[in-house]
Amino acid sequence: MKKLEMLYEGKAKKVYKTENEKQYIVEYKDDATAFNGEKKGAIIDKGVVNNTMSSIIFQLLEDKGIPTHMIKLLSDRESLVKAVKILPLEVIIRNVAAGSMSKRLGVEEGTILKETVLEFSYKNDELGDPIINDYYIFALELGTKEQVNTVKDYAFRINDILKDFFIQKGLKLIDFKLEFGLYDGQVILADEISPDTCRLWDVKTNRKMDKDRFRRDLGSVEETYQEVLNRVKQ
Ligand code: UDP
Repeated sequence: MKKLEMLYEGKAKKVYKTENEKQYIVEYKDDATAFNGEKKGAIIDKGVVNNTMSSIIFQLLEDKGIPTHMIKLLSDRESLVKAVKILPLEVIIRNVAAGSMSKRLGVEEGTILKETVLEFSYKNDELGDPIINDYYIFALELGTKEQVNTVKDYAFRINDILKDFFIQKGLKLIDFKLEFGLYDGQVILADEISPDTCRLWDVKTNRKMDKDRFRRDLGSVEETYQEVLNRVKQ
């Protein structure tokens, strides 16, 4: 399968058309941004880590009955995926308070949440991905009731699967972001699952093993991405 016209270039990935109109090739870059594009840089071989890790996790999720866009890994930075129409929603699941939740609500980072939180934001860079809820989604027709129910069901199931998976790798799943798309009218999981989109803390030391090392200038960014991939592969 070869890449044709580039359809889209985002902050971390490029998406290409292929000869099959129902399939795209995603190419993962090393570029890194944070704080809605204010901080820019690169993390060497992040593209390789995120592509490889996403394919492993999407396969795991497929095996557990969650439909995903993943078709197959093509190379160290490229995957063949189903051509979906992305729902303009970011779905965030939180097990432990961190990041924007801690800031917004004054809850200390690391506080274990009594219940899992599901949060929606409107996927719009210009607006800085503002937080919304179900009422906004229906009022603005960002998704139907059926789609939102499916998204919620999949997101909680994915959380259960991934918490279990990461704990076996010595990592606590603090929070993560998901994106879903429509394929033949059905909701399926799309985008990526990687240290860019998950907060992962080492079980023994609570060391941050994710993009916060880049966001907060904590050092050993590349080494940590490689370490996460090594653990995921084992
Ligand atoms: N996240 C993401 N993309 C975004 C916003 C958040 O992948 O545009 C992930 C982030 O890595 C973290 C979780 O979603 O694992 C929750 O992020 P949060 O809302 O705390 O925002 P942040 O602190 O990253 O600004």
